[in-house]
Amino acid sequence: MSPGLPRAEVVIDLDAIRHNVALLARRAAGAAVMTVVKADAYGHGVVPVARAALEAGATWLGACSLAEALALRAAGITAPVFSWLDTPGVDFAPGVEQGVDLSVSSTSELARVAEAAQRAGTRARVHLKIDTGLSRGGCPASAWPDLVKAASVERDIEVVAVWSHLACADEPGHPSIDAQARRLDTAYEIARDAGLNPLRHMANSAATLTRPDLHFDLVRPGIATYGLNPVAQSEDLRPAMTFSSTVVLTKRIEAGESVSYGHTWTASRDTTLALVPVGYADGVPRTLSGRMSVWLDGRRRPVAGRVCMDQLVVDCGDDEPAVGSEVILFGPGGQGEPTAREWADTLGTIDYEIVTGMYRPRIERRYLGDR
Ligand SMILES: *Cc1c(COP(=O)(O)O)cnc(C)c1O
Repeated sequence: MSPGLPRAEVVIDLDAIRHNVALLARRAAGAAVMTVVKADAYGHGVVPVARAALEAGATWLGACSLAEALALRAAGITAPVFSWLDTPGVDFAPGVEQGVDLSVSSTSELARVAEAAQRAGTRARVHLKIDTGLSRGGCPASAWPDLVKAASVERDIEVVAVWSHLACADEPGHPSIDAQARRLDTAYEIARDAGLNPLRHMANSAATLTRPDLHFDLVRPGIATYGLNPVAQSEDLRPAMTFSSTVVLTKRIEAGESVSYGHTWTASRDTTLALVPVGYADGVPRTLSGRMSVWLDGRRRPVAGRVCMDQLVVDCGDDEPAVGSEVILFGPGGQGEPTAREWADTLGTIDYEIVTGMYRPRIERRYLGDR
């Protein structure tokens, strides 16, 4: 079967990814850049993004789970990979064998990693995580000295780093940022006093952009890699993702006719409608019904009525777009098309959730700037 024009297509601009990574590497100055590629690179596709990031100056990759980290190794990527969140019962041995750095937050986790290292026949590379106030993962300060001591005497463990994660870095000036930094300092000193000489890392995108004093040895930007800016200050970031579809039918309806399920929208004048074969099964939230527009034939046009599972309808007034015309749902915003940020603002969420939600089986992915 010939695939025809795209029903739902996400185009990823790898040159935009390279541009953003290079910008982050410049801002990080002396620190190394770990590009965070968890959740299939925030919906952008883990392997092409990882390669582009490494081409542009990143030297580390960050994954959430060991499975994500091993997918990078399976693709032939040999750069340092760090993985930080797995469930009890996951076997760390394949990760140790393949040189994946693992996060450890407790002595029981340390024991599991050491046991896996023994089976793998090689030392495990470990980053000890201190909870400095996010109260999510990480070792509480009260248990930290014991964890450090256990890690420093364990033959099968190499302590590579001490690390933590910030709660409010996207609100520059928030007092928790300095408080967390002080707690990381204390934890780091305890590790040094135990004879370790670890790297230190804490900065996500927001802290990479706004807190050079928290860059330490390594920064871990995620969202800014994809061109989305987590802070209010203006930055030269280029959004990498464009989500588009195609007009499959146009028709004229008369004033008074209503459109889509529930008849929530009624034409106030005769108008032309364009049918677009993309819906909530493809990542267009149904709650955007009545609150969204698309870019079609050089201008914004409102979506009429409800977003359905597989389709939506665009009100084109007296214009008649050709069947086969491209419809942009969101993109970088340069032409005037909607952006992921605009969707997020309308929905009361963050653009992270919009782009990571675009990893769906019905969506085709295409890459620009592949080398
Ligand atoms: C997701 C994540 C990051 C990246 O955060 P951004 O806000 O996307 O830059 C960094 N570190 C950890 C531990 C994370 O989970």
